[in-house]
Amino acid sequence: MANKNHSPFPWHYFVRSIRGRISLVVISCLLTFTVCTAFEHNRFTKVLIIIVALAVFSIIQGAIRIIPFRKTLAKIDEIQVQLPHNKKLNIIYQKNEWILIQEMLKLTEKYIREQNEYITAQELQSHLILESIADPVLIIDNYLNCKQYNSLFQKKFIQGKKIKLFNDEKLWKIFEDPTLLESFESAKEKRDVIRLHGHSIGSEYFDITITPIIDEHEGSSFKLLGIFHNVTDSKLTEKMRVDFVANVSHEIRTPLTSIKGFAQLLLAQKDNCPPTIVPALERINYNTERLKDLFDNLLKLSVIESRYALDKEELDFTKLVNSIKASLAAKYQKIKIQVDITETDPVFGDKKLLEQVFTNLMDNSIKYNKNQLAHLKLSSHADKITIEDNGPGISENDLKRIFERFYRVQNLSSQQVEGTGLGLSIVKHIINKHNGMIEVESKIGEGTKFTINLPR
Ligand code: ADP
Repeated sequence: MANKNHSPFPWHYFVRSIRGRISLVVISCLLTFTVCTAFEHNRFTKVLIIIVALAVFSIIQGAIRIIPFRKTLAKIDEIQVQLPHNKKLNIIYQKNEWILIQEMLKLTEKYIREQNEYITAQELQSHLILESIADPVLIIDNYLNCKQYNSLFQKKFIQGKKIKLFNDEKLWKIFEDPTLLESFESAKEKRDVIRLHGHSIGSEYFDITITPIIDEHEGSSFKLLGIFHNVTDSKLTEKMRVDFVANVSHEIRTPLTSIKGFAQLLLAQKDNCPPTIVPALERINYNTERLKDLFDNLLKLSVIESRYALDKEELDFTKLVNSIKASLAAKYQKIKIQVDITETDPVFGDKKLLEQVFTNLMDNSIKYNKNQLAHLKLSSHADKITIEDNGPGISENDLKRIFERFYRVQNLSSQQVEGTGLGLSIVKHIINKHNGMIEVESKIGEGTKFTINLPR
């Protein structure tokens, strides 16, 4: 509020207000003098002329003064419209214009004070909310200027950097990481939530969620909220697990290959072996083969989970399917295989991994098929790929679990078929890695259909 004691006397307005009055007095004197000299003998006429002239001057002066005041009144009206109903001033009953203006100013001042208090309370509340979040949090505007962050964010990402605290610091001064900056840009452009999983910043890993906060009152401008959830511990544990599985699988494959080699060598000379030993050798050969498959699949899974960087390219769907069909026909020489390709849009992804996906799915369709003919229908249209077979189908209960690791359907016909229970979980991992989705529908006795959504 303005302090009355400190406001200087408004000389400028004082001079202006007495100037009008002095000019009126001067004009009146001049008029009286002129009239007195011009009409010496008629007193009544003299007085009349003076009164009329003074009245005309007063009216002109009054009119000149009222023009700016009319504009002030109109402005007061305009402000009144914007004020809440209970804060309006009743202009009609105000007798003195200066009191009216004073009242209006007082009211506006009070209203501004209340608004400021409200804004401060809101800011305090949002600050408390930010502080109560257990993760580092940052709010930036749509020009990527940092507007607010909590103390966890400050501790983790700002301490030690030459950055001014708060307002309008550019985001790129805090993070130099291009992926992170691009994600904020992309959340801004798409006005949609962007998530980064296990993103490394320095020596730590974070699940980062960037959410646009759109306030309709602010028009085209909006803010972005970034939450940085630290997942370093779980990421390191996961990495250790994956590394362990990969190392064990790798180490075991070498002795297994050697055992299998010796078993096959002995089997090749089975005529010289005692007959009781031959079945034992055959079991050794069979089981080492199974173990090798198991460790091969485990190794594949851990490679996909950890280090494999996708090398995406456009792939000819027909060519891909036909080459897999040729190798499966060689593997299942006793089974008649028919493959129909109905739609042939190219697919986009990592060649090696997608080959693995189609090999696993087509292999299952053939190996679990008990019909004379394994009939497979494949199609690729836009982002959607389907693989359908005429096999035994999968029950509803099993359908929920077939993508789990080591899950195998527990029916007689499935048990007679070799498998590790890892094929479909490898498929799912690869599709996830491509940010895609896989679904399955099946009817017992009729067949199974896998639908893959593979976004570009
Ligand atoms: P496996 O190595 O046992 O084949 P998968 O993960 O590939 O492991 O499959 C899991 C289970 O799902 C299998 O045990 C099988 O019973 C069932 N399954 C998968 N594909 C088909 C299919 N096309 N038709 C019928 N059953 C299937």
